[in-house]
Amino acid sequence: MENIYKHQTVEQSDNTLNSILALIVEGVWDWNSNTGQVTRSPGWFRMLEYEIDYSKNDVFTWENIIHPDDYSRVMKHFESYLYGKLDHYEIQYRCRKSDGSYLWIVDRGKAIEFNQDGSVARMIGAHHNIDKQKSIELEYSHQNQLLKEGNLTLEKIVRKKAEQLEKKNKLLEKKLIEIKSISNIDSLTKVANRNKFENELEQEVLRANRYHHALSLVIFDIDHFKEINDSYGHKVGDRILCHLSELVSANIRDVDLLARWGGDEFVIIFPELCREKAHIACEKLKALINENKMSDDISVSCSFGVSQYKLGDTLDELFQRVDNLLYYSKEKGRNTVQS
Ligand code: GH3
Ligand code: MG
Repeated sequence: MENIYKHQTVEQSDNTLNSILALIVEGVWDWNSNTGQVTRSPGWFRMLEYEIDYSKNDVFTWENIIHPDDYSRVMKHFESYLYGKLDHYEIQYRCRKSDGSYLWIVDRGKAIEFNQDGSVARMIGAHHNIDKQKSIELEYSHQNQLLKEGNLTLEKIVRKKAEQLEKKNKLLEKKLIEIKSISNIDSLTKVANRNKFENELEQEVLRANRYHHALSLVIFDIDHFKEINDSYGHKVGDRILCHLSELVSANIRDVDLLARWGGDEFVIIFPELCREKAHIACEKLKALINENKMSDDISVSCSFGVSQYKLGDTLDELFQRVDNLLYYSKEKGRNTVQS
């Protein structure tokens, strides 16, 4: 690059340099460490909005305007450079302006003369105003921090909500299982209720159709149960219903289903049993009921209606048939199996 200036005398070059320094808005400083004197360009005072030469030309003028929170960091850096621990002197900090507010600057310096003992004799540098970019940078990191905190808080809230939801879900699941079992079980006898029975019968009919398996349905009803209730009381009647349910449940196959139809009436689904076999099974149950004393040493008997599912039967038709057979069984003097 071609030199702009070619001075003939030192005065000429001084004049050029001082004119430039007077124009530069940023502050240039020149420190003589042996005398302690600091020369500052007019731009330095303008930048911080002080009257030119408003205070002494010493380092304390500089030290006194450094923000207290930045002071020790700046001094440490400065000393590290002076003692040769750092190659470059460059640091950002805040300087107090005449109105008491602070301005972010970047301070760059260079030792240019040294004493015989190697210590710095003269150092020059410049203070450059970076307040605008610094405030943008600070605002940006502040926003980032807020965002991070916000996200963390949001994350925490979401996690907490998820935990609460999981707890509620588990409770709900438990309740659902409870409700499901309640809706399938007769509360007194604990055998299947009508709802469960109807669902199961539908399934068994589908299976019977699919595989051409036999399927039989039974309805049985306690004989003269009203009298038992009347004679021994409702509680005894309840115990008999329970006892009878246990007895029948224990004497049918696992694949069979005993359900309480209502009152003293029960139903049994016999999958894969034809009418004849179902009839035999019911005879055995009838005999068992007769042989076993129920609760409170009371004997009961039951009347049975048995029918086999026929392909194309509606559930109502099948039911109607078994019901009629039960009626017939009652008519025939009770304690009988009609199929
Ligand atoms: P049948 O031989 O014709 O069946 O005579 P029954 O007296 O058993 O007459 P029916 O089956 O019509 O009467 C059922 C009785 O069962 C009427 C009611 O007092 C009794 N019952 C119905 N539900 C309950 C119950 O949950 N507990 C008790 N203890 N008794 C019930
Ligand atoms: Mg009855």
